[in-house]
Amino acid sequence: MTQYTVFLDRDGVINHDSDAYIKHPDEFHFIAKSPDAIALLNAKGFQVILITNQSAVGRGIISVRTLDAILKKMTRGVEQAGGRIKDIFFCPHGPNQGCDCRKPKPGMILQAVACHGIDLKKAFMIGDSAKDIECGKNAGCAINILVKTGNGERALAALTEKGIVPDFLAGDLYEAALWITANFSSQNIVS
Ligand SMILES: [Mg+2]
Ligand SMILES: [Zn+2]
Repeated sequence: MTQYTVFLDRDGVINHDSDAYIKHPDEFHFIAKSPDAIALLNAKGFQVILITNQSAVGRGIISVRTLDAILKKMTRGVEQAGGRIKDIFFCPHGPNQGCDCRKPKPGMILQAVACHGIDLKKAFMIGDSAKDIECGKNAGCAINILVKTGNGERALAALTEKGIVPDFLAGDLYEAALWITANFSSQNIVS
């Protein structure tokens, strides 16, 4: 039986976002209880995979090496809370580079599916931007959750305008994790 998978956006979901991009590990600050949320999901049998647009790389604002250092700070913090991020997929491209991976395109999720044999009928996408929800839907994730942290409030207005309704609106990642673990288990398969 394949495992449940939770795809997470990074900025505005796990850590506080910045309009000037996260350019250094010192600029990476966890949103309260987001590492605990990942640990809770893991404890209930959900694998967690990061799906993040990092156009700061393509724009020449940060190097892949710096991105790596920032992600290491993130994974260390998550591990200290007892959680684990199974894999990380990032799109380094800018919006005009025409890649297949930049959300809302489903490329990164489809790549994760190919790598890890994920069943999208048992997959969740959690993000704070309209493009996260659109990406989850484009890929075919069963449940797409918008968090109100980061861009969340703006995203809700943008989605409403497009007639797209998230499956659940959570205050933050921890609330999303509580909702998922309370409502889904191996006895309650999305079909
Ligand atoms: Mg985000
Ligand atoms: Zn890309």
